[in-house]
Amino acid sequence: MRKRLALVPIVSCFCAIMLTASSQQQTFDLVLTGGRVMDPESGLDAVRHIGISGGRVAAISAGQLRGKEMVEVGGQVVAPGFIDLHSHGQTDENYRYKAMDGVTTALEMEVGASPVAAWYREREGKALVNFGATVGHIPARMAVLGDTGTFLPRDNAISRRASQDENRRINDLIRRGLDEGALGVGFGINYVAGTTRGEILDVFEIAAERRVPCYVHLRHAGGVEPGSAIEALQEVIADTAVTGGALHVVHITSTCLRLTPTCLKMIEGARERGLDITTEAYPYTATQTLIESAIYDEGWQERLGMSYKDLQWVATGERLTAETFARYRQEGGSVIGHSIPEEVSRLAAAHPLVIVASDGMLTNGKGHPRGVGSYARVLGRYVREQKALSLMDALRKMTLLPAQRLETSVPMMRAKGRIKVGADADLTVFDPARVIDRATFESPAQFSEGISHVLVNGIFVVRESKLVESGLPGQAIRRPRAGQ
Ligand SMILES: [Zn+2]
Repeated sequence: MRKRLALVPIVSCFCAIMLTASSQQQTFDLVLTGGRVMDPESGLDAVRHIGISGGRVAAISAGQLRGKEMVEVGGQVVAPGFIDLHSHGQTDENYRYKAMDGVTTALEMEVGASPVAAWYREREGKALVNFGATVGHIPARMAVLGDTGTFLPRDNAISRRASQDENRRINDLIRRGLDEGALGVGFGINYVAGTTRGEILDVFEIAAERRVPCYVHLRHAGGVEPGSAIEALQEVIADTAVTGGALHVVHITSTCLRLTPTCLKMIEGARERGLDITTEAYPYTATQTLIESAIYDEGWQERLGMSYKDLQWVATGERLTAETFARYRQEGGSVIGHSIPEEVSRLAAAHPLVIVASDGMLTNGKGHPRGVGSYARVLGRYVREQKALSLMDALRKMTLLPAQRLETSVPMMRAKGRIKVGADADLTVFDPARVIDRATFESPAQFSEGISHVLVNGIFVVRESKLVESGLPGQAIRRPRAGQ
């Protein structure tokens, strides 16, 4: 017994030397030399050389490595590529801004898609970053009830109750989406206020049967009872408990507003009692949605603690009045709502449980800056300037936590969100002294600064802080289909 114990360190030490020796003889496709490698899973925070071959991390070494291509990244942080769980913008335009903000995987988990296979087909082989989606309760409900909206419901799906037959058809579309590899089920209950609690519970049951999480925009926002964010959170915590499923609550700050500490306490309590619940926030003090949506139905001022002047019309940047509000609500379009207190945004940015996710979408350069600068903003504003959290903790909330949210049902995510041998070479290299967001509410289409290099599956999509669009290495993130 004593002999065996004595042998172990000698053997493992010998293997380590062999491994280093073989890494040093090998020629990798690419070597990033001399960066400060930070991996939230292992806790590694040290100067290392990274060898990349075949789209994967092939070596992490304190000694020199040889590569067909060598890129010096001394003085910079090398982190796992950021994973955005809430990226509505799923176009080339949006992928460019994502890449320049350090995001290597952009997923549409809240509104989601339906039909799912067609959504993936449109992007396969054409995307700068990795992409994927849930099957969405909203698009399924819009299709079955014949809503005339495009992205979000406009009429029938908002307030009409589904008949038994319609409910069956909605559930069929959800099952079909999951059969086609969807990453979970997305919900925006607030946008479809006529949906009964029973309809939501049924869909939670389907998700639990298939062992995928539900990504939910809660039924209500703000603190006015009845109809508060607390009541809405209680609904889905109960649905999770009774179905045995998993829940991810999207944008906790813009839903819970000043009640965010209470909502976080509820989620922590539910987790302590064994429920699988996670949450996310974007690091801004304003929301964005469609003005014609149910969010701005009668009583919004009291519910959201806002008045007309807190609303900003995306197309022009103007602040609204009672008159312009009425006109634009008739016309339809995007509106920004300045409703989240700064201390709430900072609390969520620093909270170890709250994943960073953008909720962003830019259309021809217009939109909320969150789709452009969320990640650089957390690193520059909350880590460096305000010291609200450590750099490693921030990286964990951008990489490992979102990967872990997905990986029980999406095995390919086990190779993302960390830097280790065998992991996908999705890497973000940035200057911690310079990284910052540039996008503003008035002028959102401005790339983040200080992100030097971004690799997606081993291919540069950002190099020397410039976009490289020749490769299109983004891959589809999907669940294996049944039997695979
Ligand atoms: Zn939402």
